[in-house]
Amino acid sequence: MREFWQNYIDGAWCDGGAGRIDVIDPGNGTVLAVHALADTADVDRAVRAAERVHASRVLVDMRPMERGRMVQEMGRWLLAHLDEIAEVLTREQGKPLWEAEIEVKGAALYFEYYGNQASTVEGKSIPLGAGYFDWTVNEPFGVSAQIIPWNYPLEMTARGVAAALATGNACAIKSSELTPLINGYIAKAAEAAGFPAGTVNVLCGLGQDAGAAMVSHPGVRQIVFTGSVRTGIAIATAAAQNVVPCVLELGGKSAAIVHDDADLEAFENDIRWGIYFNAGQVCSAMSRVIVHESRRDELVERAKNVAQSLSVGPGIERTEAGANMGAMVSEAQRDRAAGMVQEAEAQGARVVSGGRKLNRPGAFLEPTVLDGVTSDMTIAQEEVFGPVLSVMSFRDDAEAIEIANSTEYGLVGGVFTRDLDRATRVAQRMRAGQVFVNEWYAGGIETPFGGFGKSGYGREKGREALWNYVQTKNIAVKLG
Ligand code: NAD
Repeated sequence: MREFWQNYIDGAWCDGGAGRIDVIDPGNGTVLAVHALADTADVDRAVRAAERVHASRVLVDMRPMERGRMVQEMGRWLLAHLDEIAEVLTREQGKPLWEAEIEVKGAALYFEYYGNQASTVEGKSIPLGAGYFDWTVNEPFGVSAQIIPWNYPLEMTARGVAAALATGNACAIKSSELTPLINGYIAKAAEAAGFPAGTVNVLCGLGQDAGAAMVSHPGVRQIVFTGSVRTGIAIATAAAQNVVPCVLELGGKSAAIVHDDADLEAFENDIRWGIYFNAGQVCSAMSRVIVHESRRDELVERAKNVAQSLSVGPGIERTEAGANMGAMVSEAQRDRAAGMVQEAEAQGARVVSGGRKLNRPGAFLEPTVLDGVTSDMTIAQEEVFGPVLSVMSFRDDAEAIEIANSTEYGLVGGVFTRDLDRATRVAQRMRAGQVFVNEWYAGGIETPFGGFGKSGYGREKGREALWNYVQTKNIAVKLG
């Protein structure tokens, strides 16, 4: 592992005006590497470089299919370096190595998918009668600022950057101060694909400092953010000052409604992936299960078995896909999650399994199942962002929907039943941007993703996301 990692601004690797920051390996608590820390002057240089690239029209004038090929090349570059990238990701983020490999492949998929879409961002012609010819074009905003979270630092960056570049924008990226190493590979991929210097700029900086400077920079024309509601509000407020649109993806408290006719054996798999993948640090995690009271005891027993089947420890030792879980991203996040479990217990929930920190160095929390959770408890309302499943129960469909919709969030939801009519009715009434029926995470990169309520606005993934990165221009010609 290289000891010192730098920012990438205007095609050059450079130190940061704010000094350096230690990157901790959450799998053992030691310092993994040191990263340059950007200050506001670095942010200014990055945004100016991206502005210059946009003003040169090099990306805009390129045939979109050609630009799309370069975007796809970035994905191929990531795959060609999969082993190295996955190891760095595991060491700085904590997830098992096989999960890191999934993330690298997922990131590559975004470049493949959006690279393919570059030539499809078509306008239309609008009939105005014989005296005029009128058409629309979809122009890039210019500089897209992307503020990156630490839970899927490579995949989230790929998601925004691939769509931004495919539509002809240049990017200023601020990586999370907890997981900055991995985003250097996005810069390398852009360089390898042949994008001109200044097209993709990647810097690590503190949220309050470099992050705040980036989202309020007058050269930024569009903002993409994934993270907490509190930071999302700060970013939207800064964006409003410059009248700049943003896409906000702010997490959730997503619920699966499990009906009395559901296949609970199959549902074990949904528990395994829905709440223990990436140690539960997933915005669309299945953090609440609302089960019909007649199946509650069986479900709780099965959830306990799933939780207890997972071997928890350093991600770097967990190379094979299977029943295992890595560290959380930091001890602070782990302590916060453990504190929320204690609070839930104090408010009347029952810890069926887990809930404690592991007695070893690193940011480990036991896979946790809580039973007897009710909507008035903090744990039912606030995002834990950890491996903690809350089980709640209902008597009839109306109550299930009421409980599911009882938070300020609305990212995703799930319905589990053999009755498709019932599933459809419940899905129609769920306040969520995406509903999974009989498989948590059904869908994919092609399906639009984003929240209702405080889960944010704008959509990522799918073709729908492309429209976040372009603005309509109408051109009307008076014919002679
Ligand atoms: P955060 O929202 O504060 O940080 C996310 C990113 O925003 C980081 O890159 C950070 O540097 C940056 N940032 C912080 N303040 C900023 C500002 N004023 N202007 C611009 N950028 C700023 O998240 P966190 O503190 O790391 O985690 C806290 C909680 O947020 C978690 O427990 C979890 O509930 C939630 N979270 C959700 C997601 C998600 O995928 N939805 C991801 C990360 C965290």
